[in-house]
Amino acid sequence: MQDVTSNDSISARPTPRRDPESSAAPTVSAGHDPGPAPVDLLRRLRARGAGDPVTHVERVPARVGVPAPWPAWAPSELRAAFARRGVVAPWQHQAEAATLAYDGGHVIVATGTASGKSLAYQLPALATLLADPRATVLYLAPTKALAADQLRAVAGLDLEGVRPACYDGDTPRAEREWIRRHSRFVLTNPDMLHHGILPGHAQWSGFLRRLAYVVIDECHTYRGVFGSHVAHVLRRLRRQCARFGATPVFVLASATSGDPATAAGRLTGLPVTAVTEDASPRGGVTFALWEPPLLPPDSTSPPVPAQAAGDHDAATDLVQVRRSALRETADLLADTVAEGVRTLAFVRSRKGAEVVAANARRALDDAVPGLGDRVAAYRGGYLREERRELERALLHGDLLGLASTNALELGVDLVGLDAVLICGYPGTRASLWQQAGRAGRSGQEALAVLVARDDPLDTYLVHHPEAIFGAPVEATVLDPANPYVLAPQLACAAVEAPLTPADLALFGDGAKEAIDQLVEAGALRQRPTGWYWRHRERPEVDLRGEGGAPVCVVESATGRLLGTVDGGSSHFLLHPGAVYLHQGVSYVVDDLDLADGCALVHAEEPDWSTHARDVTDLSVVSVRSYVDAGPVGMFLGEVDVTSQVVSYQRRRIATGEVIDTRPLDLPTRELRTVAVWFTLSPRSLTSAGVQQADVPGALHAAEHAAIGLLPLMATCDRWDIGGLSTALHPDTEAPTVFVYDGHPGGAGFAERAYGTASAWLRATRDAIAECGCETGCPSCVQSPKCGNGNNPLSKPDAIRVLDVVLENLPA
Ligand SMILES: [Zn+2]
Ligand SMILES: [Zn+2]
Repeated sequence: MQDVTSNDSISARPTPRRDPESSAAPTVSAGHDPGPAPVDLLRRLRARGAGDPVTHVERVPARVGVPAPWPAWAPSELRAAFARRGVVAPWQHQAEAATLAYDGGHVIVATGTASGKSLAYQLPALATLLADPRATVLYLAPTKALAADQLRAVAGLDLEGVRPACYDGDTPRAEREWIRRHSRFVLTNPDMLHHGILPGHAQWSGFLRRLAYVVIDECHTYRGVFGSHVAHVLRRLRRQCARFGATPVFVLASATSGDPATAAGRLTGLPVTAVTEDASPRGGVTFALWEPPLLPPDSTSPPVPAQAAGDHDAATDLVQVRRSALRETADLLADTVAEGVRTLAFVRSRKGAEVVAANARRALDDAVPGLGDRVAAYRGGYLREERRELERALLHGDLLGLASTNALELGVDLVGLDAVLICGYPGTRASLWQQAGRAGRSGQEALAVLVARDDPLDTYLVHHPEAIFGAPVEATVLDPANPYVLAPQLACAAVEAPLTPADLALFGDGAKEAIDQLVEAGALRQRPTGWYWRHRERPEVDLRGEGGAPVCVVESATGRLLGTVDGGSSHFLLHPGAVYLHQGVSYVVDDLDLADGCALVHAEEPDWSTHARDVTDLSVVSVRSYVDAGPVGMFLGEVDVTSQVVSYQRRRIATGEVIDTRPLDLPTRELRTVAVWFTLSPRSLTSAGVQQADVPGALHAAEHAAIGLLPLMATCDRWDIGGLSTALHPDTEAPTVFVYDGHPGGAGFAERAYGTASAWLRATRDAIAECGCETGCPSCVQSPKCGNGNNPLSKPDAIRVLDVVLENLPA
């Protein structure tokens, strides 16, 4: 969720806020020389090193907007209000989605950044409010900042009798009653709907009875376990509305994604029509895919702790064989700034952004003393005034280069840069385009560069531009049938009103089983009129709670809280003796107190790194679905995963040499979840040329890369997923690779992998085959989270294994 937690909402223009409805990017400053044309600039950047790091250049042409007439049903008062704000006519996609919704259909508009999605729901919702003085609208945003933005937009239309208002945790008690009684356009978030509005439905009955529209903005952020919870909160909302006789129309807005109608259908439980054809205008962009070169064999650098390199908060033992994306991005930033090009570099972590800015500054100062001052780092943590000052400096050209985390991505409007550098694929296409969309002023061409990190997904993307520029395949997945989500949500629903057999269809697959379990556990009581909640207190259900409570990292000497590590990773990263890196500073863990959820550490910089080892057991509980493809089998089902961190290695930082292996005494952990797995017959492996002794390394390498590529198919992070491979599994009696959801009950990722198995494993195979390394590296088959120290791994045999699977599996 880091993409959407920014509270920044700052206008980049010196003039008033950018209007969310006007889809043309505002021009940021006049008078600044945009520097060389993107194509010339790119040519010079490419010519810098020995080889050519550019794998693809895509010219994303400028698009002329296709306006549509105002729908006949849109009242003149509303047209006039939009016209005052500069919207003279809707774009085609806005008009199409608006009319579908006005006619009573549930609709999702899934188009690009700044394509004016809000007009698509404001138009039918506000037209209805004007036509029916009693009707109401409920708007849901993933963040308070976005809801506040929308409030400004709706309030700015100044329509009589609408009385829009935000209702969230910050709303003063004194105002809440007024809002419930008088506002007809309430803006809130799913958490407030879950914790406040639905439990208080009696007070909201007047509002819910008249509810005409439910608007769900940025709905692609409702994914995984959180998305599954939100899906049931929406079902609870529909149920309360139905009790009061209302059947609201749902209008959803999403970033572009694969199969938005299905995702919206799962989220709402309703049939939803998708509008995906973007008819808004946009500036042209030259988009280059950039793969940092392999390092010469003799200069292979020692293991780099991933956190120091600005990656996930985990130490890794991977040997770098490629020039790092951070160094490459810093060089590119220095070069573009030296050319006078206003450039924004997106880096995944704060530390990384600071490293990029510092290196670019140094390089510029070496060339021209003082030039380094024109580069800065920007991150969400800065004070508002400091951020404003940085933005002002960039807009006026005092500052030419800015390295930033994606804090800019949502809530801050800073567009119109001459070049955007994206250091590492940001995880989803939506984020990628949001970042690239910062480049380009109206009427001017801009440059965007994606610099690949050491990661199989990045490797795949820079060799498969069609996955970036073609039709999207990555889908927003969620699994409302997850029993760990369904049961607590049904408990909440039962408190709101007793459950009846008629509710079973609403809550979907598994509802009856979950209710039976709640009855058995004594939480519900069955009576002739339905299932009743038995307790005095409401159940405590946190929509965003995942993977156990986070563990606090505390400095023993000072009691200072350094940060937190999620419960799932704590055994790996915070075991006694672990070297823990926090913002580039090294600490050693003295004690991990699991009962209190805290780890005590002291600052120390030993010349070794630590690498935890775990043993994982997996047993198949049930098979949900399978494909029998001759020597290959593909399965989806429930599994029990038991894992225990049993030891750690200490290794010299300079050489990677193992100093010793020390035992650990940590409890085992168990996870019941959903997995996808494939099996191969031993004979098919032999005939593909995989030696018996190489089978474990082949499967293990295929497993790592498959985990790395799954985010191509589903919006997840490789850290949401686990895997296990074995040359002989007792439950399958065959060589097997398992990939499982890292959350209890599953989050929909394994299911998506199963549904797209041949495309997913084809991409996995290609990513391995297309990596230029010889024996496997972090860009293909090595994993930063391997519990076996990336051993054994066989890159060539992994390709053979995947070829066997792909030859047999139906496409
Ligand atoms: Zn490689
Ligand atoms: Zn592994």
